[in-house]
Amino acid sequence: MYEELGLYIDGEFIRGGGRREQDVLNPATDEVLGKLPHASTEDLDRALAAAQRAFETWRKTSPLERSAILRKVGTLTRERAEAIGRNITLDQGKPLAEAIGEVTTCAEHADWHAEECRRIYGRVIPPRLDGVRQLVVREPIGVCAAFTPWNFPFNQAIRKIVAALGAGCTIIVKGPEDAPSAVVALARLFHDAGLPAGCLNVVWGVPHEVSEYLIHSPIVRKISFTGSVPVGKQLAALAGSLMKRCTMELGGHSPVIVCDDADLERSAKMVAALKFRNAGQVCVSPSRIYVGKPAYERFVETFVAAAEKIKVGDGTDPATRMGPLAHARRVTSMGEFVGDASERGATVLTGGARIGERGNFFAPTVLAEVPDDAMVMTSEPFGPVIPVTRFDSLEEALARANRLPYGLASYAFTTSLRNAHLISNGLEAGMVNINHFGMALAETPFGGIKDSGYGSEGGTETFDGYLNTKFITQMA
Ligand code: NAD
Repeated sequence: MYEELGLYIDGEFIRGGGRREQDVLNPATDEVLGKLPHASTEDLDRALAAAQRAFETWRKTSPLERSAILRKVGTLTRERAEAIGRNITLDQGKPLAEAIGEVTTCAEHADWHAEECRRIYGRVIPPRLDGVRQLVVREPIGVCAAFTPWNFPFNQAIRKIVAALGAGCTIIVKGPEDAPSAVVALARLFHDAGLPAGCLNVVWGVPHEVSEYLIHSPIVRKISFTGSVPVGKQLAALAGSLMKRCTMELGGHSPVIVCDDADLERSAKMVAALKFRNAGQVCVSPSRIYVGKPAYERFVETFVAAAEKIKVGDGTDPATRMGPLAHARRVTSMGEFVGDASERGATVLTGGARIGERGNFFAPTVLAEVPDDAMVMTSEPFGPVIPVTRFDSLEEALARANRLPYGLASYAFTTSLRNAHLISNGLEAGMVNINHFGMALAETPFGGIKDSGYGSEGGTETFDGYLNTKFITQMA
C-alpha cells in the first residue's frame, strides 16, 4: 500500500475537494502510484494563519515539552522506518536498504534536536555601570517556510522541521512533488507524536507558485531551501528583497583529490560506493576526480571495475545496488553531460547510456580525458556520471578543485600528513573529508560556502538560523 497522499494543514489531513491533482510516478516502472493534491490559495492562507496562531503558543512552550515531542518523533520514526522506506523506494527509486537507512538515520536528527533544544542559552555581559544588568537572549524567529527536495525526501525535510520546532518556530513545508510520500509520512509522525495543530503544515503545488506566495506573505519570517543553485539564488533574492532570513543548502560539484601516496585500492572502491549511492543524486556526491599522475592508471582500473560491478535495477529487488534516476529529466540531463564530454574528446570508460526503455535507468558512467571546460567538469552532474583526470602537483589539483563557484563537500585521499594539512586548509568547501566519508551526522554541521549556499544544518549550529538575538539592558 502506497502512502495516502494529502495536504496537512492546522492538524488536519486533507485531500479531494476538487483540488488540482498531480500523478506521482514510480521511476522504475513509469506506473502511477498515487494522486497528489495541490494546495489552493485558500489552503496556503489557512496554513499561514494556522502557523501564525500556533507560533504564539509554541514559542512559549518549555524546551522540555518541545524535547519530549521530538523524542517521540524519533521513536516513531524507528518503528515505521520499514514502511516509510518502502514508499520512498517506490516514488524516489533508491534501493530499499538505502531508503530504510535514510529513515532510521533520521531518527537521530530528531533525538539530537530533542537534546540540543534544551541548551539554547543566552549570556550575561558584565556592565560598565553599577546597577545595570545586560542580557543576551535568543528568541524563535517565527513562522518558517521550507522547500525540500526529492533526493533524500525524508532526511532533507525532517532536518528543517526539527530545527524549526526545536527553536520554538512553526513551519510550513512544501515537499518534493516528484517523491511526496516521505513528507506525508513525516506529517503523520509529528501528528501522532502530539505536536499541536498548526506547528507543522505540509503543502504541495507548482513549486515557484507556492514558494513565491509563501515568501511574499508577511507572516513568513524565515526561508529554508535545499535544491539547485539557480533556484536557491532566485529564492534568496526574493527573500532578501523582503528582508527575510534564509538557510540555503544548494548544489555542489565535489572534487576528489587522490594523491599518489594514497591507498589506491581502498580509495577507488570507497569513491565508487559513494559516487553511485542514490544514483549520484546527492548534493555531496563525489563528482570530479583528480588523481596524481603516477597513480592514475591503477586508480582508474579499480574504480571502473567497481562501477561495473554495481547491479542496477528496481530498488525493491534486494539485489539492486543502484536504482533508477528519480525522474525523466535527470536521464535527459545525463545524456547531455556524456554527449558534451564526448564531443570534446573524452573517452567513455564504462556506461554512457540509458538502460532499457522502461523507467529512468542510466548506467554508472566513468569518463576519462575530459577537458576542464566540459560541462561535466563545470556543472553539477547530479547523477551517475563522473569524470576522472590527472594532476601533476598538489597546488595544481587544489587550484582546479577551487576554480568552480561551488563550495559544498570535498574529498581527498593521502597517507601524507603534510598533504592532508595542505588540502584541509586549501580546499574552498563547507566540508572536507580526508580518507573517509563522515558528513551529515546529527552532531556535525552540514552546509556549504560560495554558490553552494549558507547556514548549517545539524551540529550545535543547527538552531542559529531559526533564532533572533535580543539584547536587554536593565537598570534597577
Ligand atoms: P530543480 O532546480 O527544478 O528542482 C530542485 C528542487 O527544488 C525540487 O525539489 C523542486 O521541486 C524545487 N524547486 C524548483 N523550483 C522551485 C521554486 N521556484 N521554489 C521552490 N522550490 C523549487 O531541479 P531538478 O531537476 O528537480 O533537480 C536537479 C537539480 O536540483 C540538480 O542539479 C541539483 O543541483 C539540485 N538538487 C539539489 C539538491 C540538494 O540536496 N542540494 C537536492 C535535489 C536537487
